[in-house]
Amino acid sequence: PAKLIDGKLVAKQVREEIAVQVTRMKDVIGIVPGLAVILVGSRKDSQTYVRNKKKACEAVGIKSYEVNLPEDSSEEEVIKHIASFNSDPSVHGILVQLPLPRHMNDENILNAVSIEKDVDGFHPLNIGRLAMQGRDPFFVPCTPKGCMELLHRHGVEIKGKRAVVIGRSNIVGTPAALLLQKANATVSIVHSQTKNPEQITRQADIVIAAVGVANLVRGDWIKPGATIIDVGINPVDDPESPRGYRLVGDVCYEEASKVAGAITPVPGGVGPMTIAMLLSNTLESARRIHGFK
Ligand code: NAD
Repeated sequence: PAKLIDGKLVAKQVREEIAVQVTRMKDVIGIVPGLAVILVGSRKDSQTYVRNKKKACEAVGIKSYEVNLPEDSSEEEVIKHIASFNSDPSVHGILVQLPLPRHMNDENILNAVSIEKDVDGFHPLNIGRLAMQGRDPFFVPCTPKGCMELLHRHGVEIKGKRAVVIGRSNIVGTPAALLLQKANATVSIVHSQTKNPEQITRQADIVIAAVGVANLVRGDWIKPGATIIDVGINPVDDPESPRGYRLVGDVCYEEASKVAGAITPVPGGVGPMTIAMLLSNTLESARRIHGFK
């Protein structure tokens, strides 16, 4: 059976390491890393994400700043707040919670964030640099960065290996594929128009699935011994659960865990890593801005 890649445990270790570094920075140069979060509108799920990010900051000693704007705000108003955080020396990371209201153009908003404070890594210049050989972005998007961290901390060799990423979204699939390529894997991307996705996936030593379709990847899609990172978070009906549903990944865990060499569970795999990487990006930013090693 496959080894379990315990994201909850790794995320806890990462958060503990960050807390130590935040304290050290404060003691040595008197600087506390700061993260600003801008939320537009009142989506319940976004409010929950923002609350969780604030709590995670507090737990490691990062200061958080929050701005809540009404749903009907204009792009200019949002950009005004971004600009003020861009020039605020106590803020080292800025993120705009997505999705934005429909009347706003995401690109205009994301473009306004200073690339040196873009801790979500969604600024087109940061994504562009991620795609370039011999260049590095200031920040890498948190979820794919969390996938790579899990691979590294489990000693998975990437160089020269075949990797398949299923899904090509801007926030997960595409940056995950670019990161694997930077780490010298040979990468294929499987997406909604791919023919015979199972044949292509079966060639992979490393699979990152970020699709949003419950149990899409079956046991016979997987090369024996492969490492599987399952990003998907999908609710499925479950009358036995108190909430009436439970969460499953994009990979059929029951089947895959019999074939794979190592696999992340859902929940408790990539999920907890995302916020840990946001904290890591914020600390890294404060260090870079203040020249603190
Ligand atoms: P998305 O909907 O933006 O992108 C899905 C991608 O999957 C698309 O590129 C599409 O081409 C591809 N796709 C769709 N159907 C397919 C099929 N049948 N076969 C192959 N490819 C197919 O989704 P996303 O934002 O990238 O998120 C993907 C999943 O990851 C979701 O379940 C989401 O909830 C989860 N997610 C988890 C985290 C986390 O763990 N913190 C973060 C982000 C997203």
